[in-house]
Amino acid sequence: MRAFLNGKFVDRKEKIIRLEDSGLTFADGLFEVLRIINGIPLFFDDHINRMKKSAEYFNISFPYEIEYIKNVLRELIETNEIYDGEVYIELTRGTDLFREHKYQKSYEPTFFILTSPLRNIDPKNWESGASVFTYPDLRHTLCEHKTINLLPNVLAKNYAYNRGGYEALMYRKDSKGKYITEGGSSNYFIVKDRVIYTPEIDNILPGITREKVIQLSKTMGYSVVEKRVYLDEVFEADEIFLVSTVSKIMSIKKIDHTLFDGPPLITKDLIQRFNEFINLLI
Ligand code: PMP
Repeated sequence: MRAFLNGKFVDRKEKIIRLEDSGLTFADGLFEVLRIINGIPLFFDDHINRMKKSAEYFNISFPYEIEYIKNVLRELIETNEIYDGEVYIELTRGTDLFREHKYQKSYEPTFFILTSPLRNIDPKNWESGASVFTYPDLRHTLCEHKTINLLPNVLAKNYAYNRGGYEALMYRKDSKGKYITEGGSSNYFIVKDRVIYTPEIDNILPGITREKVIQLSKTMGYSVVEKRVYLDEVFEADEIFLVSTVSKIMSIKKIDHTLFDGPPLITKDLIQRFNEFINLLI
């Protein structure tokens, strides 16, 4: 399998990242995950622009033009024959020989792209709804950026996996109680009385799928409210679903030990319209 690293196509198995890379020593970097369908990387510009914006925010230099990355990715998809799969892109601040917290302007960033077949996900999660488990959001206050600093997400997701769940539902607390933030790698929506609610962008990732689903819901005539969503409201919702690049839209049938057995009619409608929307792009 071929990969792209710092301007070259390389063998994915080659050992070529320096041990002093600030991504390894400090988790000082960013990543993106894109979905490939029919050989097309979906929402490519949105993903690259999100990474570019965060790179600017953190003063990490962004090494390539968007068109160049698009061509590299096209070539990787063809060489690796990945027509239904995933792309992983990582950008780190670069090599830092002395593991200094003070970074230098002269650092050359590390940028690599991997393509892989789609990970194995039990289709039952889409067919009959997924189970998720609530878990405290233990992260920092930079969650609006897709940083590679993912230890709390790994803990949250494994808490859910160890209980047979598909994803975590993370929450924080304020004076009114627990409010939901997001999953370890997804955003959440609830439906109550035909209105769609989703956590506002307040130290959570502005997911690309989240934004597409909000736009689509509005064109379908639904009101969408972005606000702080409390866990109590989630348990009283008519429908709950999560969204992400890999999961697309997935209905939730169980949170912790509470089952939601109402028909997820609006979620189903959205899933169908989202798939139609994607079909227009591929
Ligand atoms: N939140 C987090 C923490 C994530 O890692 C992801 C996956 N990238 C998402 C939400 C969903 O974002 P997207 O729709 O851009 O994949």
